Amino acid sequence: MRISILASGSSGNAILVSAGGTHLLVDAGISARRVAAGMRDVGIDPVLLDAVVVTHEHSDHVNGLGPVARRFGVPVYATSGTHAAVARRAGSIPETMFIEAGREFRVGEFSVHPFATSHDCVEPVGFSISDGVSRVAVATDLGVVGKAVRRHISEADCVVLEFNHDERMLAEGSYPWALKKRIMSNVGHLSNAAAAEEIAGLRDAPMSILVLAHLSDENNDPELALAAAREAIARAGRRDVTVHVSPQRSPLETIDVLASARRQKETIEEGVATSCTG
Ligand SMILES: [Zn+2]
Ligand SMILES: [Zn+2]
Repeated sequence: MRISILASGSSGNAILVSAGGTHLLVDAGISARRVAAGMRDVGIDPVLLDAVVVTHEHSDHVNGLGPVARRFGVPVYATSGTHAAVARRAGSIPETMFIEAGREFRVGEFSVHPFATSHDCVEPVGFSISDGVSRVAVATDLGVVGKAVRRHISEADCVVLEFNHDERMLAEGSYPWALKKRIMSNVGHLSNAAAAEEIAGLRDAPMSILVLAHLSDENNDPELALAAAREAIARAGRRDVTVHVSPQRSPLETIDVLASARRQKETIEEGVATSCTG
């Protein structure tokens, strides 16, 4: 399974998940042109896109939805609440597929499990996606980590988790109070500290890759997010987790989930061998 973060953050979100010839886009918050360019950059012909799955109706997740669906002639999978909320903006969609939190569905090689998230919109979900070999969980735009989110990140080889803001930068920053309050609320966005707390709990989880996602331009610093994640990984007693930070606009290099997991395992085994003989 390969994962390419084409864009992440309040200026647009789109994550391409590929395996065995199936190419699935999680959110289409950037233009069809940028989706096509991003796919070409990672060596995939954009005409091969199979479907778009949508987390929720905020514009940074659906800005390019209509054009992407029409240009590539692909179905759009979303909850009925999300479909209703985007219908007018997205325009005609070639194929509208209704999904429900907790009910798994298939797209080509993938089984996709939507799970409920806590966010200020109609019917938001995150996604756990498996090709039968590896599993990725995408959880961004959430005020708190609920039970379902926790379960799905604890089962994933690759965890894409929101590290939205540094609490102090947000509190001291220039946003109006009402907006600060919204971001900090249970239906807002996950802080570095809250996300790190979840990671620290993943002692025995399969996670070998952690992608820090949906970082705020205004209220976060990639170095702070990375430091929080690294500290949490150490707290979990893990030495086998690779951390990536999603840049807001330029795509993150493609992550090969299985290869990365194998590499990590080898490194650990070599490390153990060295310490035993030394
Ligand atoms: Zn968002
Ligand atoms: Zn949102």
